[in-house]
Amino acid sequence: NLSIGLVGLPNVGKSTIFNILSHNQVAAENYPFCTIDPNDARVPVPDERFNKLVELYKPASEVPAYLSVTDIAGLVRGASEGEGLGNAFLSHIGACDAIFHLVRVFDNEEITHVDGYVDPIRDMKTIHDELRLKDIQACEKHLEEVEKIVKRGLDKSKAIQWKHETLQKALQHLRDGHDIRLGKWSNREIEILNDYYYLSAKPVVYLVNMSKKDFLRKKNKFLPKVMEFVRERSGGVDPVIPFSAAFEQDLLDLPTKEERDAAAKEMGVVSQLDRIVTTGYKALHLIYFFTAGTDEVRCWTIREQTKAPDAAGTIHTDFKKGFICADVHSFDDLMELGSEVAVKTAGKMRMEGKNYVVQDNDIMHFKFN
Ligand code: GDP
Repeated sequence: NLSIGLVGLPNVGKSTIFNILSHNQVAAENYPFCTIDPNDARVPVPDERFNKLVELYKPASEVPAYLSVTDIAGLVRGASEGEGLGNAFLSHIGACDAIFHLVRVFDNEEITHVDGYVDPIRDMKTIHDELRLKDIQACEKHLEEVEKIVKRGLDKSKAIQWKHETLQKALQHLRDGHDIRLGKWSNREIEILNDYYYLSAKPVVYLVNMSKKDFLRKKNKFLPKVMEFVRERSGGVDPVIPFSAAFEQDLLDLPTKEERDAAAKEMGVVSQLDRIVTTGYKALHLIYFFTAGTDEVRCWTIREQTKAPDAAGTIHTDFKKGFICADVHSFDDLMELGSEVAVKTAGKMRMEGKNYVVQDNDIMHFKFN
């Protein structure tokens, strides 16, 4: 169960956005095998296709995909040295698979800033540094362990040599001030580094929290610098989403999504919540396939590049064990032709075997023993 962690300095709006995201949590009874944790929100992933399938089948139950968001208490400078429970927070980040990096660009004298005044670039660097320092400590330990083995001649394989070289290179890379994620690595090196779960290796989505006023006038004095900083640092890879927690909070006073969308439109803006959730989901390299019928329309989360038997296994382990084949049709064909029967008649229902890589638009029926 992959999750994305909310990371940022204190008083940047983490609890606020976490509470907003929790507001329309998906019902826990649909996920009987998931543990309930107050610091974890299961946020439905908005998807027009899912809505259309529900419209078509009017099923007894509907289960969307969800993004699991974990609230991680505020990091402060010195966290990697244990400042302010820092090490505990950092280990919580370790348990997440991607990071929402929350950056404050709203000015408000009543809301103090841990470092005295608002400066988002300094803040981002503080967080980057703490994650990297934690990685340096971890990498030094990993390297030490491998060096012991090599020096004592306990293992003379190529594999341990590669590991040794890769860790040396990673440590230098970190000491030079770079994230693991933003390094140039060969496939072999990536495979080795993946085993170590470095914090700076996790995908990042920046959420830039503006005041309501700035959000409405689409202008903030720090925002261009923040965009430029992230673009330069990540080579344009990391998404940046400017939003306003205060604005999103106000919208929640309206009871339905339709009313909230209409109110935002009237003010000339769009709520950024959907974009935040879908971008977070993508950062985790997750996709989902559908099962659809009158009983249930449901999204099943899988990793990109999952083959049919493993996809079947997310529904039930028996589906994987006894996997025979899958009947697959695409969402687009179903919409175009209007019903599953029509899809079959048109010859667009495919039978796929165990090597089939499940795609994002697939509606699946599994056959099993
Ligand atoms: P955390 O420490 O990062 O969890 O921050 P909180 O969510 O507790 O927010 C700290 C304070 O900033 C609270 O008083 C929030 O109401 C306020 N706040 C959060 N987001 C915004 C915003 O977009 N604009 C303004 N003006 N205040 C905000």
